[in-house]
Amino acid sequence: MHQLRSNRSRSRSKRRAIYCPSHGCPLESVSCKHQLYADRAEQLQQRGMGRRTALTVIRTHTAVPITGEWLEAFWCPQCQEVTWYHVWLCNPDAVSHQRRQYVVRPAPQALWQQATGVIDPDGNPSVGEFTRTLARMTSYQGLKGFRFI
Ligand SMILES: [Zn+2]
Repeated sequence: MHQLRSNRSRSRSKRRAIYCPSHGCPLESVSCKHQLYADRAEQLQQRGMGRRTALTVIRTHTAVPITGEWLEAFWCPQCQEVTWYHVWLCNPDAVSHQRRQYVVRPAPQALWQQATGVIDPDGNPSVGEFTRTLARMTSYQGLKGFRFI
């Protein structure tokens, strides 16, 4: 609850409640958000979509943005290092920004293949492949009306 009362203003307009999983201290963002995409039905099913719908969506759109999830690099003053994290909003129904809660975990290798615009620290070539997939995307605006869990 302490984070809700903290009103120390920072240069960023909105302070997000994102904390180091090892130390619990606030993390400092050192990158922009890198949107994640799903290009397989299983990736949508993992997020609560029915199999039939997921297959139809992927067949129709090839790849779709996953709302409320992204990759972002953070600096932890206690870890003394920058780590890429998979961040997701765990209560998308939160009314206000202050009440939003985020969960982070070190970004697993597989997720790099679902992101665009990131510089893979390991030089994974599949990022490029996925960017080509996105280049074929239609002007799909996301899964409006569908709630990811
Ligand atoms: Zn830390």
